[in-house]
Amino acid sequence: MPNTMKGVVLPGQRRVEFKEYPVPEPGHGQVLIRMKASSICGSDIRAIYREHLGHGPEAYQNVIAGHEPCGQIVKLGPGCVRFAEGDRVIVYHISGCGVCHDCRQGYMISCTSPQRAAYGWQRDGGHADYMLAEENTCVALPEPLSYVDGALIACGYGTVYEALRRVKVSGGDRVLVTGVGPVGMAAGLVAKGLGATQVIGVDIAQPRLDFAMQVGALDHALPFDGALDEIKALTGGEGCEVSIDCSGAPPARLLALQGTRRWGRCAMVGEGSTVDFDVSQTIIHNQITVYGSWVTSLGHMEDLVEKLIEWKLRPERIVSDRFTLDQAPEAYRIADKGQSGKVVIVMDEE
Ligand SMILES: [Zn+2]
Ligand SMILES: [Zn+2]
Repeated sequence: MPNTMKGVVLPGQRRVEFKEYPVPEPGHGQVLIRMKASSICGSDIRAIYREHLGHGPEAYQNVIAGHEPCGQIVKLGPGCVRFAEGDRVIVYHISGCGVCHDCRQGYMISCTSPQRAAYGWQRDGGHADYMLAEENTCVALPEPLSYVDGALIACGYGTVYEALRRVKVSGGDRVLVTGVGPVGMAAGLVAKGLGATQVIGVDIAQPRLDFAMQVGALDHALPFDGALDEIKALTGGEGCEVSIDCSGAPPARLLALQGTRRWGRCAMVGEGSTVDFDVSQTIIHNQITVYGSWVTSLGHMEDLVEKLIEWKLRPERIVSDRFTLDQAPEAYRIADKGQSGKVVIVMDEE
């Protein structure tokens, strides 16, 4: 094993820098992972790459970036109890205190302890040759899932699975997805896995709609203009039983609410910005339940891995662009344009 490694930091203003680091030594309860794949998330673009926007759990501390890591364990620290060298793992991307109420339910994402640190935000993440992780944040990645599949589960697929479980998507539901970037595409695919009979996607970017149709994430792809009438036309005038906003854009959030059938459920997962709507007309008189959902739990991420294998759904089908670690600046440039599918940095496929 080498003594030093390369890592990517994001200083802001759309810059990508490489730095040399010593290869870390796993401490108690930690594992050293040889990185295999580390994908780029919309949050990396929005809150780190363009400018450092975040506060609290989204404050970027100039660490190695990348919060969707997947790789192979190459060294165990003392006190590890489950994993072994050679194991393939997804890293659930937040390390919580482990003993608060939310951590005990597996929701390290909503841990409020000062000990909480997210990989790629407050502690070193996956855009490097190696990464140090707490063993309790590792989720086993079985065959036939690939390392790229695992990276996509670490954040995006985990997030949509959680939200769609929370709104209880089943075979009785048609699903409206607003914003069909990588998270919206994952939402369409997972909704179908859970039984949704029809998935309608809306976006402002035609290349994204085309790509989403091509990978089978949607049954109907609608441009934003005139979408509400089209949604009604496709659903017998009713709207969809379930909607999920994956855009974070105010007009798309409103469309998700308006495109939801009376008594339906709407999940919000797209981050940032605001929304302004007539509460009586939009949700009260239509008896709509709105859910906020942030990432997922460790247990649900394990459940998702199992379900994806059962459904024969390989997350990586939504990947449009693959780059090496050395090509990270180009990877970020493409992801920033917001016209593609998922962008992944792949260190090693095997
Ligand atoms: Zn993310
Ligand atoms: Zn905690």
